[in-house]
Amino acid sequence: MRLFDTHTHIQSSKFDGDRDAMLARAREAGLAGQLVLGWDVASSEQAIALAEAQTGVLAASGCHPHDARDMDEPSWERLTELARDPRVAVIGEIGLDFYRNLSPKETQLQVFSRQLDLAAEVAKPVAIHCREAEETLFPLVEAWSRRLDGRLADGRPLGVMHYFSGDIDLAERYVELGFAISIHTSVTYPNAQRLQEVARRLDLSTLVVETDSPYGPPQSHRGKRNEPAYVAEAVAKIAELRGEPAHQVAEATTENAERLFAIGAATSAAASMQAPRSV
Ligand SMILES: [Zn+2]
Repeated sequence: MRLFDTHTHIQSSKFDGDRDAMLARAREAGLAGQLVLGWDVASSEQAIALAEAQTGVLAASGCHPHDARDMDEPSWERLTELARDPRVAVIGEIGLDFYRNLSPKETQLQVFSRQLDLAAEVAKPVAIHCREAEETLFPLVEAWSRRLDGRLADGRPLGVMHYFSGDIDLAERYVELGFAISIHTSVTYPNAQRLQEVARRLDLSTLVVETDSPYGPPQSHRGKRNEPAYVAEAVAKIAELRGEPAHQVAEATTENAERLFAIGAATSAAASMQAPRSV
């Protein structure tokens, strides 16, 4: 079974004690890949370092809405540089969070919009965080999607709605705008009916899965640290909800992630760029 965790923060100090063992458990669970997202400049640089050191690890660079208040001009210069870096696959994690409001709303809006523009400029997909901000975020993303004709220049989806928490109607509207919907390990919680309905009804071609490690462990590990190996539990729950074999859900969500992050494309482009041997 091949799995892909589309949202982790394994650069977090919560993994400093056992990062290698955790990565070994992820491989044992069948993880073909994971996307490690930054939340500020330093954590984005750490994500790149992990992607360089570990196979199957991709990096995203970006500023999380919680950290928007810390974005000064030197930080923008560095984030812009990182966005253009070929080792960065995705711009994220970006978005709006009006639940915790750790940064002022106005600042969050400016930082989010500027990063959407940056993603369009470098033609990379985005990973979007949205909490209690749907009414503000949707129109912004809609306008951005229209500007790009709903696709990246190379035909890929525009990005992923991370830790999706809306209902099925909203999920379908984001799919129409050119987004994949990420089902988080919290789909295993008994009270997660709304997310379970999204996981059951959405077309399999639009779904990806994530843990958001170290946050949000599945039901079996509540109150503890989450880790990428547990993405298997999200897949098992989705398979049960849909009445489909787990290996089928695993393969489809992995292929969706690989298409979104251009993994096969990067490999074949690199292969085709090899100069033919002279005889
Ligand atoms: Zn996150």
